[in-house]
Order: sequence, then structure tokens, then C-alpha cells
Amino acid sequence: MSVIVLAEHSQGAFKKKSFEAIQYAAAIAQSMGTTATAIVLGDAPEANMQTLGQYGAQKVINIADARLNDLHARAYAKAVIAAAQKEGAKVIVASHDVTGKSVAPRVAARLKAGMVAGAVSHPDLSKGFVVKKNVFSGKAFAYANITSDVKVVTLLPNTFPVKKGEGSATVEKLDVSFEDKDFSVVVKETNKVTGAIPLSEAELVVSGGRGLKGPENWGILEDLAGSLGATLACSRPVADSHWRPHHEHVGQTGGTIRPNLYIAVGISGAIQHLAGVNGSKTIVVINKDPEAPFFKAADYGIVGDAQEIVPKLTAAIKKFKENHN
Ligand SMILES: Cc1cc2nc3c(=O)[nH]c(=O)nc-3n(C[C@H](O)[C@H](O)[C@H](O)COP(=O)(O)OP(=O)(O)OC[C@H]3O[C@@H](n4cnc5c(N)ncnc54)[C@H](O)[C@@H]3O)c2cc1C
Repeated sequence: MSVIVLAEHSQGAFKKKSFEAIQYAAAIAQSMGTTATAIVLGDAPEANMQTLGQYGAQKVINIADARLNDLHARAYAKAVIAAAQKEGAKVIVASHDVTGKSVAPRVAARLKAGMVAGAVSHPDLSKGFVVKKNVFSGKAFAYANITSDVKVVTLLPNTFPVKKGEGSATVEKLDVSFEDKDFSVVVKETNKVTGAIPLSEAELVVSGGRGLKGPENWGILEDLAGSLGATLACSRPVADSHWRPHHEHVGQTGGTIRPNLYIAVGISGAIQHLAGVNGSKTIVVINKDPEAPFFKAADYGIVGDAQEIVPKLTAAIKKFKENHN
């Protein structure tokens, strides 16, 4: 019996949210007196898989079918179930991201397992298996007790800090036979974002909303982000209007982020936006409307026109950096 966790990677490089999920699974395993096993789907270098031991995985099960290098939810679910059954797993963990959201419910349905989606706490085993999760776009919490024999949990990314430790995981291969219908959805094109730190991993984020008026005004945000080494984000209408790419959209229907610093410029602070960013450690809001709801969630607020404030802020940051180098 062990706790198993889906460890996502991109061409063999593991993601921060996978380390977090492994660490979470390892903590559950420890409190259950068992071990955590990571499942790696597709091709990844053995040395990289071994490093998952640094985050608490004792073992890695690798299903090295090249077709799994792209997300195929049905095939992924089959692979996870095969690994879970091999290990006699009672708890199955994944990140609450695109992959986890499409794979975990399939796994839960097939194993007749109870599932909590988007957990933000370790399970309280003294009361059964009680997990806290956000509800109503982060306005409230719910505590869900999973009473089924097998339990499935997806962890909201960036809930816990990732700590790298010592250790090396052993790697085992597992063969799973798939059918053509497991790959019925074909990924035709993948556009990789290069350069900046991915939003899900960024510690510093500069985000723009409809108050910027149009894509031609994003230069001031790019300068601000450049001065800080921050990653850019945006509100949903900005992405919907094609002012910015969709991968930058944060909120209830976009990415969930928890950076150390979130600077929101010209964003009203609708509940659906806050749902994706209200876990940020420090929130700075720049808005010309003193009544903008975002100010209620802000640690620091500047009332003023973005076109005036942002360049001054960028200049001040540059000057500060020059003086402290
Ligand atoms: C089911 C559902 C899901 C949704 N999911 C998301 C989501 O994931 N993410 C998301 O962001 N939204 C989401 N929304 C939309 C959300 O409700 C808001 O409509 C959206 O967040 C508003 O975007 P905004 O703040 O950029 O624009 P606006 O609401 O138009 O706000 C613009 C702000 O800019 C300020 N401003 C204007 N000019 C300036 C200036 N010159 N300088 C400084 N400030 C200025 C204004 O005072 C205003 O506060 C969702 C809505 C629904 C119904």
C-alpha cells in the first residue's frame, strides 16, 4: 500500500507543481505510515526521475509509452489506475491543473473513489480524511471528508512552499496496454512559452486589466516587469480581447498563482479574478478609481492613472537597483 502521485514533466524536465504534489503526497504517506510513489508518463531521463526522491518519492513508476508525451486524459487515467493497482494505492494525488483536472475525475470514477478537487490543506486523518478546499471563488472554505476506500485529491498549485531535500528514488518501468480509443483526442500543435519564468512558478508578477485600454499600452507593464524580473499576467477580458495571450489570464477560469508579489494595474478586482490571485503574499493595486474592489484585497494601493504611476514606479525600481548593486 502506498500513496501515489502524478508527476508531470515537459520533455523530461519536472515542474515545480509536481515537486509540490510529491511533497504533499509524501506528507500524507508519512502520516499513514507508508511511502509515496511518483508516476511518470512518457519519456523522461532516468536521472531526472531519480531526483524526485529529493521531494519525498521513494519510488518512481515510469510508463514510458511515447504517446504519453502529450496529454491524453483517457490514456493517462488508464496508466494512473494501472500504477495505483500495482501499488495497492489508497490515496492518489495530482496537481489541480489542466492535467489533474482532466485525469483525476476519470480515475476517481473508474475506481469508485471519493475525490476532493483543489485541496489547500493536508488531510486531517484524526477525523477521517478531511481536506480543506476553496469554494465560491475563494470567498469561503469547505471541509470535505473522503470516506471511500480509495481517495483521490488534486492539490491547488502554489499552496505549499517546495523544499528540496536529500534522497534518490528508485525507478521501475511498467507496461500498460492501451487501445486506439485512449488516444482519440489528438494534440495538433503545442505553443511553448519561452523566456520568462512560467506564471505558475513566478515569485513576482505584474498583471494588467482593461484599464490599460489596449495592447499598445502594454509597454509600460513590460518595462515594470523587466525592472523587477517579473512575469506578466492579465485579467480575462484582456485575454478574451486578444490584447494578451491566453496563457497569461489568471483567475477562476485561468491560472491560479501565489507569487510573493502581485502588482495589479487597471484591474477592478472582480471575485472571479481574485479567485486566481488572492493567495499572493503581497498585493499591490494601481487603479484610478478609489472605490475599485481590488483595494479591499490589497496590501498596498496607489490611486492614480496607470500611464502616470507605472513609469514612475519603474524608474524608482531601476534607480533603487542601481544604488544597491
Ligand atoms: C464565470 C466567470 C468566470 C470569470 N473568470 C475570470 C477570470 O478567471 N479572470 C478574470 O480576470 N476575470 C474573470 N471573469 C470576469 C470578471 O467578472 C471581470 O469582468 C473581469 O475580471 C474584469 O476585468 P478587468 O478588471 O480587467 O476590467 P474592468 O472590470 O473593466 O476594470 C478595469 C479597471 O481599470 C481601472 N482603470 C481604468 N482606467 C484606468 C487607468 N487609466 N489607470 C488605472 N486604472 C484604470 C478601472 O477603474 C477599473 O477598476 C469571469 C466572469 C465570469 C462570469
